Amino acid sequence: MRILIVEDEHRIAQSIKKGLEQEHFAVDVAYDGLDGFDLATTEEYDLILLDLMLPGKDGLSICQELRQKSINTPILMLTAKGQIEDKVTGLNIGADDYLTKPFSFDELLARVRALCRRPKNSLSNVLTIDGLSLDATNYTTFRDGKEISLSGKEFALLEFFLRHPRQILRKERIIGHVWDYDSDILPNTVEVYIKNLRKKIDTPFPGKKPLLTTIRGFGYKLG
Ligand code: CA
Repeated sequence: MRILIVEDEHRIAQSIKKGLEQEHFAVDVAYDGLDGFDLATTEEYDLILLDLMLPGKDGLSICQELRQKSINTPILMLTAKGQIEDKVTGLNIGADDYLTKPFSFDELLARVRALCRRPKNSLSNVLTIDGLSLDATNYTTFRDGKEISLSGKEFALLEFFLRHPRQILRKERIIGHVWDYDSDILPNTVEVYIKNLRKKIDTPFPGKKPLLTTIRGFGYKLG
C-alpha cells in the first residue's frame, strides 16, 4: 500500500513517514500544496494524508480538485484544533475522514488501515485466498496452517496481491503501489521479489497448486 503525505511541517511529515514505513507502507512526502497536488494526480496512491493549511494550495482546494478530476483515492485530512468548520467542509467536498492534531501515531495508523481496506474486506485486516492468509495488523502469514516468514517488502507485495485477488497485475502497477517514488527500481526488481515470494508461499507446498502465476506478456496473478 502506497501513501502520499502532504504536510508542510517537516518534523511531523518525517515522523509519520518513518512510522508508516516501519509498518511496511511505501510513503512519499510533499511539503507544499502544489507538489502534493502534482503527485496526487500523476502517481497512484492507496491513501492521501492531507494537511489543511499548506503553502501553494490549501488542503480543501486539493481535495475538491482531486474529486472534480474523479481521483477517488481515500483522503484523511489532518486538521488543527478549532478548525471544526473546515472539517465539515472537508467531509462535504470528498474527504473520507479527519484527524485533529496533535494525534497519536496509533490512532493515525488505525484510521489509515480502516481507509486502506475500504471498500472490500471491510470487517477484517485478515486477507485470505485458497488456504493462504495474511494478517495486516500483526504481520503474520500462514498457508495451510504453516507460518511463513516474510521480509517487509515481501509482505507488502503479498498484501497488494491479496487486495487484488485473481486479477492480472502489471509490473508497473505493482511498482506503483509497493515502492515509493524515490526507490531505485531496476527492471527486474519485481521479478526478483516475485521469485523470492514463490519460494516461500509455493515451493514448500509441492502437493498444492501454485498460488502465484506469471501471465506471460501481461503480469502476475495470485489465486
Ligand atoms: Ca500546515
